[in-house]
Amino acid sequence: MAANILLVEDEPAIQELIAFNLTQAGHHVMRADSVEAAQNMVRSALPDLILLDWMLPGISGIDYARKLRGDERTKQIPLIMLTARSDESDKIVGLDAGADDYITKPFSPRELQARIKAVLRRRAPEATDDPVEVKGLRLDPVTHRVTVHGNPIELGPTEFRLLHFFMTHAERVHSRTQLLDQVWGDHVFVEERTVDVHIRRLRAELETSGHDSLIQTVRGTGYRFSAS
Ligand code: CA
Repeated sequence: MAANILLVEDEPAIQELIAFNLTQAGHHVMRADSVEAAQNMVRSALPDLILLDWMLPGISGIDYARKLRGDERTKQIPLIMLTARSDESDKIVGLDAGADDYITKPFSPRELQARIKAVLRRRAPEATDDPVEVKGLRLDPVTHRVTVHGNPIELGPTEFRLLHFFMTHAERVHSRTQLLDQVWGDHVFVEERTVDVHIRRLRAELETSGHDSLIQTVRGTGYRFSAS
């Protein structure tokens, strides 16, 4: 399970330690030492998860958590708060602000990794390594293989990520902008019609087995992956 993790932490020693541990675990870590720096990074690309320190210079972590949750584009990003506080009431404030989980410093690298994995699994199943299967269509993120009733099919890297996202977020309607954010990871430099091009390619690959009908066009809105 490799995820793009944005670490927002102002204490250099702690930032270094966490970044080291996460990199060792195979994650890609982006570092910010303030909310302002984090906002610039999130503007250009959405991370898979944000580790957010509570006490930061300028805008506090808790205020940033509320901002992230109040914004349509960022409200789904998995979020773990880091803090030295261990008060039960502070914990509740953190969770109320929209954090998915809460870790009190000091914590072990093992605990941090276990919690990251749990939150990703809950909030962003496409960022975990679990294989997914719908009606004989199976996608394995570890081997990067897609099979239809056991027969392999070849997908391009973007179609693979698109299918993975669809299969782990079935039955929901996704706008082109949401798909660009979630699958391309950057909504700024890619045109919306790019989504249509890759949907067309993905459907073409799934056509022989009839699985192309799982990808539905929702007029005026976007696309939905549906097994029903
Ligand atoms: Ca701090």
